[in-house]
Amino acid sequence: MSETQKFYAFNPSNNQKLEGEFSNTTKEALNDVVAQAVTAFDSYRKKDKNSIADFLEKIGEEILNLGDALLERCHLETALPMARLQGERGRTVGQLKLFADFVREGSWVDAKIETAQPERSPLPKSDIRQMLVPIGPVAVFGASNFPLAFSVAGGDTASALAAGCPVIFKGHPAHPGTSAMVATAFEKAIEKCGMPKGTFALVQGNTNEFGANLVQHSAIKAVGFTGSFAGGKALFDLANARPEPIPVFAEMGSTNPVFILPEILKQKGRVIAAGMAVSIAQGVGQFCTNPGLAFVEKSEATSVFSTTLAQKINETAAGTMLTAGISKNYNKNIENTLALENVSLLAKGQSSDLSNTAQATVFKVSMQTYTENAVLAEENFGPSQVLVEANTKAEVLEAARNLEGHLTATIHGTPADFENYKELFSILELKVGRILVNGFPTGVEVCHAMVHGGPYPSTTAPQTTSVGTLAIKRFVRPVCYQDYPSFLLPEALKDENPYSIWRLVDGVFTK
Ligand code: NAP
Repeated sequence: MSETQKFYAFNPSNNQKLEGEFSNTTKEALNDVVAQAVTAFDSYRKKDKNSIADFLEKIGEEILNLGDALLERCHLETALPMARLQGERGRTVGQLKLFADFVREGSWVDAKIETAQPERSPLPKSDIRQMLVPIGPVAVFGASNFPLAFSVAGGDTASALAAGCPVIFKGHPAHPGTSAMVATAFEKAIEKCGMPKGTFALVQGNTNEFGANLVQHSAIKAVGFTGSFAGGKALFDLANARPEPIPVFAEMGSTNPVFILPEILKQKGRVIAAGMAVSIAQGVGQFCTNPGLAFVEKSEATSVFSTTLAQKINETAAGTMLTAGISKNYNKNIENTLALENVSLLAKGQSSDLSNTAQATVFKVSMQTYTENAVLAEENFGPSQVLVEANTKAEVLEAARNLEGHLTATIHGTPADFENYKELFSILELKVGRILVNGFPTGVEVCHAMVHGGPYPSTTAPQTTSVGTLAIKRFVRPVCYQDYPSFLLPEALKDENPYSIWRLVDGVFTK
């Protein structure tokens, strides 16, 4: 890939080519960018915690300084409404600030100190200290559906920079203009905060080969990815096939099963159906937390629920999807599902003459049909759901036991339902990263306690999260310092605790 290949941005609502020409970063240029990141790592990792925190906040400020021009470009490239993009910008700046505060506080490095016991018998004990240190330059891939919050300045970038790692961000080809604008905010923040030049770089490309080259580069030490299962798995495999395998934190698709238990279905079936319709269709269903799968037990209440859900979905206007490809894929999957034996169409939203649209769609199937067709449990990225009717509680529990890993699961119930279905909670704890009660999975709060992750295939790293401050731990590794000269110890491990952080000293948490 030494020739520069050009590519362009398109407006998905009319297929018009947008202003601006983008180049696939060449392999030579990519090598230069990675070399700069390696050099930057040497000094960036040694920056004090307050400088890194200030830098993260400055990136946020510079994003805000881009003003509405950023949102307008983003709207043209994604067809996402301006109000949504305004909220997403707030979230992006908010998560940079959250990581800044987290780094400034400093205890996240998990400092542990075991003081020496020279007199211990039969063997003396050494002075042993441990903390987390940054892993090295990180390659980050963002998804098309969050052009700000899971893109150039998204959670992966924020958490890697917070950890002390330079970032090389591979821009998503669906919003290259937005990516380029956000990258200018990084340039300004780097200059104003005196950070090394290679601390952040945006590289653009629209071929799988390009992303593969980045992941296979020997100086890249970890990968953050948000996107499709196919993309995440391909990059995970490439990273594992390297002479030096590296961790890939791929957050991928999910169908986010929802369980609506019998008693609540009787009491609040209509209300839950209305909420479900909104959750399915919100943002044209283009959320990794979309409720793509729901389970109910057959009863009179089920038909009231289904009828209300059908009414609400039938009234839903079609929406433009993020790209022509995503829309084509969604509509093809809908056709394929309809063609399956014993799958009935419960509801379909309004049609539209606009380009690249999706109609909200709900299918209804028996538990037997669901069990016989594995494809019904798979994500169709967009506003669709498969509603599964079980005959018994045992069937519901069995379906839960057979789920693959998901980002979320939701249970709707009354206190009596919860008592009766205690086992469901216990099963789901092993299947997902977040369990919601009497809510809807769309919408992920960015906070310390959030888990946006889950067992494979929702991610390739179930021990962590891509949203919330725990995400920082993806880009670090523990180092043990044994009998170290005190002046060489990192600040976080010095006896006098200059950072005033919480540390585990001889088994006791102390400041
Ligand atoms: P995508 O097509 O997988 O793209 C993500 C990035 O990976 C792009 O930069 C893409 O660039 C690159 N890529 C994809 N396949 C690749 C391959 N085989 N080799 C090298 N690079 C590759 O994802 P998307 O369409 O933007 O996003 C939609 C999906 O993301 C949905 O499934 C959604 O559920 C999921 N999602 C998950 C989360 C989460 O947190 N778990 C959040 C948002 C979205 P190229 O196209 O240039 O190769």
